[in-house]
Order: sequence, then C-alpha cells, then structure tokens
Amino acid sequence: MRKKIIAANWKMYKTPMESLEFLNAFLPKVHDHEKAEIVIFPTATSLSTVIDRVRGTHVRAGAQTMHWLNEGPYTGQTSPTMLTSIGATHVLLGHSERRLYANESYEQVSLKLKAAIAHALTPVLCLGEMLADRQGGFTKDTLMAQMGAALSNLPASSAGTLVVAYEPVWAIGTGSTASPEVANEVHAIIRSELARVFNYEIAENTRILYGGSVKPENSASLLSQSDIDGLLIGGASLDPKSLAKIVHTH
Ligand code: PGA
Repeated sequence: MRKKIIAANWKMYKTPMESLEFLNAFLPKVHDHEKAEIVIFPTATSLSTVIDRVRGTHVRAGAQTMHWLNEGPYTGQTSPTMLTSIGATHVLLGHSERRLYANESYEQVSLKLKAAIAHALTPVLCLGEMLADRQGGFTKDTLMAQMGAALSNLPASSAGTLVVAYEPVWAIGTGSTASPEVANEVHAIIRSELARVFNYEIAENTRILYGGSVKPENSASLLSQSDIDGLLIGGASLDPKSLAKIVHTH
C-alpha cells in the first residue's frame, strides 16, 4: 500500500507571519488525520518558521528548489546541507516554473535529484508536458525524456525515497485539470517506465502525485484513481480551509 501524500506548493506566496496564520488555522483541522502524509513547501524565507511550527506534528516541510552542491560562490542559491540543517525533509525538483523561468536544465534537475538523495532529503521530481506537446501527441515522449534525463545513472538502490509529481503544464494555475482518467493513464505510463528503469518493486512503491488545478471539488475523484498516490497543490493550498478539505477527502 502506498501512503498518500498531500503536498502544498506555496510558490512565491506567504511571509513568515502569513505562514504562521495559515498553520494556526490548518494544524487543528488535520491533527488527527494521519492517513496521508502532509508536506508544505513554503517560500525560502518562510521555511524555517514553518519547520519550527510543525515540529511535533505529522506535517513535514520542504524547499521549492535547491542547488546540488554543498557550498560555493553561487549567489542566491541554497544547498542541501543548509536545508537539512534547519530540519527540511523534502525538496521539490524540476517544477515547470523553475524549468521555464529559471532555465533549469534536464541535467541540473538530475544533479539535484542525486544530491537530494545523498543528503536524505525526499525528492519530489516534477514532470509534465506543455499544451503543444499534448496537442501534438507528444505527452509520452516528453515525459520519457524528462524522466530519462533525471534518473540517468541513478542506481535502483538509491531510488527508494523518490516521489514523482505529474503536473501537466497546461493545467497549472489555469483551472483546467486533467480528468482523473487521463491523469491516471499518464501515471500508469510513468510507473511502467520506473519498472523498466529500476525494477517492479520500486515502481510499485513509488508515490506518483498529480498536480494542476487541484481543488476540494476534484480531489476525491483524483485520489480514487489506482495510480494517483497523492496531490501537489498550488493555488488551493494557500487557504487553510481548502487544504484541510482536500486532506479530508482521502
Ligand atoms: P495549481 O499549481 O494547483 O495552482 O495549479 C500546482 C503546482 O504548480 O504545483
């Protein structure tokens, strides 16, 4: 049984004070609901505040990106060691907004993935096709290219903690979700690729999350699909009531 993950990607929203206000409202609503793992990805300046506030609860917190090196002359960057030193447990890697606006390359995502695993940070590897890929019938090719690059030279023995998030770029922040069935089909393709690259056991144990315009109204039908093991939520995760509702749909 794969334990479901409900993950909140706060992007560039919420100051430390706003993050605390959120958690003060949210934590009491989910404190007795440990069926799913809950992970919050705040913006960098709110991360340690969130980590301190969720300490002792079953909620975890992680970074939205990181560098792959431990230290160095890289202005604006944060290293894996810096993240673990403040108690971060997870890291989002290769989110489409990073690929698009920060020019994160396939190779960089791969280096980051290996660094996260080496530092015992749970990597959430984001994959997803653009609208033109989908319309042109290239969804599978795009995802295979993204996975192939990210997972190259990663031994099966290191892949145990990997989490994958399928986020079609055309569904992010647009209000148009992939239907549960369409998303599930893609998740099954990703899982069979994991079996091919690693082995059947890793494929069966890897959690594959769906992201892209998830809301309380569609979360239950997405979570009921056989290959959807959780959700990565942007917009709807900014409101404590709506995130708690999503947690409780499982
Ligand atoms: P959205 O964002 O839920 O606002 O579509 C999801 C994401 O980008 O992770």
